Amino acid sequence: MAIVVQKYGGSSVADVAKLKQVADRVMRTRREGRDVVVVVSAMGDTTDDLLGLAKQVSANPDRRELDMLLTAGERISMALLSIAIRELGGDAVSFTGSQSGIITNDRHADARIIEVRPVRVQDELARGKIVVIAGYQGMSYRREVTTLGRGGSDTTAVAMAAALGAEYCEICSDVEGVYTADPRVVPAATRIGTLSYEETQELAESGAKVLNAQAVEFAKEKGIAIYARATSSRLPGADPSSDGTVVRRHPPRMPGTVVGVASERDVLLIEMEREGSSRTHAASDPRSPERPALQMLEELDEHHVAGKQLHVSGDRLTLVVSRENLHEEPRVRAALAARFGDAVRIADTIGALSVVGAGINASFENVRRGSAALAARGIAVDGVATSSFRITWMIDRARLDDAVRLLHGTFIEGQETPVL
Ligand code: ADP
Ligand code: ASP
Ligand code: MG
Repeated sequence: MAIVVQKYGGSSVADVAKLKQVADRVMRTRREGRDVVVVVSAMGDTTDDLLGLAKQVSANPDRRELDMLLTAGERISMALLSIAIRELGGDAVSFTGSQSGIITNDRHADARIIEVRPVRVQDELARGKIVVIAGYQGMSYRREVTTLGRGGSDTTAVAMAAALGAEYCEICSDVEGVYTADPRVVPAATRIGTLSYEETQELAESGAKVLNAQAVEFAKEKGIAIYARATSSRLPGADPSSDGTVVRRHPPRMPGTVVGVASERDVLLIEMEREGSSRTHAASDPRSPERPALQMLEELDEHHVAGKQLHVSGDRLTLVVSRENLHEEPRVRAALAARFGDAVRIADTIGALSVVGAGINASFENVRRGSAALAARGIAVDGVATSSFRITWMIDRARLDDAVRLLHGTFIEGQETPVL
């Protein structure tokens, strides 16, 4: 029998009534003659609430203990959903990440899946059961409980789909798929029927929450098709792109086409210049002119801080750090201040605004158009970074939503803007 993996996000299991609707959708899928594996997130805002509790106890909660705490959220959902399915006459069994055979590295609060050994899941499927799995969690090779970073239930679902050779992996949420921008911010945003893995990964890394970036990376590696759709939608029919978004290998669009606009609000911009406390140290070692930058990266690694858009040029380092999985910020700030003194500056007023599309930097036209539109609206730009799929402008966080609507107008709705 073909296996399908369905993932239901926090808003889809936020209360008992919604859990019952999910149970009903699972049962309908089962009745279509498929083996069903369901991955669930924590109910509603449970993960945020648990994090809030930990922060009340300590400004720098220990990452291992955070994992023990946060995994409880998904455990509640898995058991309740299993009970709800049984109530509808289905034969369900729930498993934690560790029981499902999800093996990760030992990086607490932001672990990566290194292997999936779904023996117990396969055994239960063979017995005719519906298997319900707690998302967002695994067990490290040291047998410690880990979590996969915020939004990590998507990763659980894709990894499980790959390990089980599933027909498809459905990511069910409160939106009808991936849109050209967050529909809560841009009313004119429209659903995108089909996306390539690369486009989706860039959108996710730029802050589009609807799919987790690591999950898309996994799907690309294993060739798994992802269907993103609303939990309230019907089951996929012959044309799965008719009501959601299908993410799969996709022939390139017209090069240079912008497919979406995304933003990330909760970032820190770390800047370091070779001055202050570490200058004498570095200058005394002619073999390592870049040594302060390397020391900075070493310090960040020691605190498990992941960064993006690293730029080192001469005496200057800049780096953007997403706050999503940074749970010990006061401790990290204190460590950087102790080691680098005035040489390091951390800006906490900046947001990242990105447009995404294959080949969008083949010429500088898109950078010029976006920059001109921002300038015309009086939005100051602190920095620009590009890759072959993305242009990112660092701007004042307070102007972010306005800027997203502006660039959506410019690049997707085709509104006229001056080109510098
Ligand atoms: P879930 O709890 O189901 O995992 P998330 O909150 O993680 O759901 O993701 C869904 C949310 O992502 C939507 O409510 C929407 O506001 C937001 N979002 C951001 N960017 C996009 C986009 N480009 N397309 C669709 N939704 C987006
Ligand atoms: N519950 C976790 C979070 O809020 C994982 C997820 O929702 O995917 O980040
Ligand atoms: Mg999510």
